[in-house]
Amino acid sequence: MQSLLENWRALEQGNWALPVAYLLVAAIALQVLLMLYGTARRQLAEREQMRLSTRRLGLEVETAMLRYREAEQTKFVWNGYRKFRVAQKTLECKGVFSFHLTPHDGKPLPPFKPGQFLTFQLKVPGQAKPVVRCYSLSDGPNHLDHYRVTIKKELPPPDKPNVPPGVASSFFCDSVEPGEILDVKAPGGNFYLDLTKDTGMVLISAGVGVTPMLSMLNAVVANKSQREVWFFFGVRNKSEHIQKEYLERVAAEHDNVHLHVSYSKPTPEDRLRVDYQHAGRVSVELFKQLLPSNNYEYFLCGPGAFMKSITDGLSEWGVPSQSVFFEAFGPATIKKAAPPVAASAAAQAVEVNFSRSGKVCQWKPESGSLLDLAEANGIKIECGCRTGNCGTCLVAIKSGKIDYMAGHGAASEDGSCLTCICKPQSDLVLDA
Ligand SMILES: Cc1cc2nc3c(=O)[nH]c(=O)nc-3n(C[C@H](O)[C@H](O)[C@H](O)COP(=O)(O)OP(=O)(O)OC[C@H]3O[C@@H](n4cnc5c(N)ncnc54)[C@H](O)[C@@H]3O)c2cc1C
Repeated sequence: MQSLLENWRALEQGNWALPVAYLLVAAIALQVLLMLYGTARRQLAEREQMRLSTRRLGLEVETAMLRYREAEQTKFVWNGYRKFRVAQKTLECKGVFSFHLTPHDGKPLPPFKPGQFLTFQLKVPGQAKPVVRCYSLSDGPNHLDHYRVTIKKELPPPDKPNVPPGVASSFFCDSVEPGEILDVKAPGGNFYLDLTKDTGMVLISAGVGVTPMLSMLNAVVANKSQREVWFFFGVRNKSEHIQKEYLERVAAEHDNVHLHVSYSKPTPEDRLRVDYQHAGRVSVELFKQLLPSNNYEYFLCGPGAFMKSITDGLSEWGVPSQSVFFEAFGPATIKKAAPPVAASAAAQAVEVNFSRSGKVCQWKPESGSLLDLAEANGIKIECGCRTGNCGTCLVAIKSGKIDYMAGHGAASEDGSCLTCICKPQSDLVLDA
């Protein structure tokens, strides 16, 4: 203010030197400020560029390592069944055990993709035939001196309390101990996390369906990836809370991991916001409250009704079906959206004769696989993985032709088909 007045007086007196000097100083100061601002902006841009390049380089290194591991996989992968020794059995929570398996031949193990499973052929005392069952790998692919599976003993359904408990899961939980030798097929399955991507993910599970999610989470953490992970896990209460302390530790140590555990029937001892974050079931409403947007990849595993409610909710929320991946541990209750059926669909209906059961059924595109058709009509076909890998659902074709709906790992001889992943091409007679 003082200098303005001085300038004004100087101008009134016809003295131009002082105002010009002031203007010059101001112009120089402005120029210096502009230079400093430009330099700061350039430095910021350079830093951002550097950060992006480092991230790109990191991703490239990760991808190269993955490709290398995949190449290793084909080197160590085995055909058929290989003997594994149970090295460790750990109680996770009531009725759920983890098993560490080491190869009996001592040779290296192939890596696997987080989310994949092992197929077991078990000699269960009292069972006439070997029992084939699949169990997801419950640890990431970064500890390749052993594989880990986590198994829940299947109790009789509540409406049939007198039927026997699950054959294979009871055998594992009640009888299998360290030192036992088991027959195991190489890791397989198409439900897995692509570690070469850097998209954010939402891992959603209930009960023992958490096993593939543990594998995915552990892979992300072990790779020191900064991928955003939202981990939603639903159980009844603390007695079913698999890997509680471990999950809490991972979430506390990694800013990119957001853990949200829901208890549907908490006991008075269970502490909200200490033992669990939400009362009730895992639901899409919860995602809407917590996720910054719906723009994620969603991985789901749990009981049929749970997966159906989540997939329906995600679809209503506008999540494209290509961003939703799921694994069913039992009969498929949800199916990937089928392509639109033409008006002439009735003309595509073909007749499938399950000759052993004496049932003739109409197959239409919306019937799904031959296994789905059989189950919908009360026809029992033994099955394991439901993805064409374990070979349990192989059935002889007496007449007619089939088409495979997906690639398969299990061998299918001429004249038979893997019913879980094929559909009829013409009228069929199956030995089932
Ligand atoms: C890809 C994949 C991955 C999997 N991963 C896992 C995993 O990580 N962990 C895990 O625990 N499971 C997993 N499963 C499930 C697992 O494969 C088995 O299906 C599960 O352990 C049950 O097998 P089971 O032999 O014990 O039961 P089953 O003998 O097949 O019995 C199933 C149920 O039927 C009931 N039952 C028996 N008799 C009758 C009857 N007469 N009438 C009506 N009901 C009857 C039993 O009590 C039981 O509840 C996975 C499945 C798949 C396909």
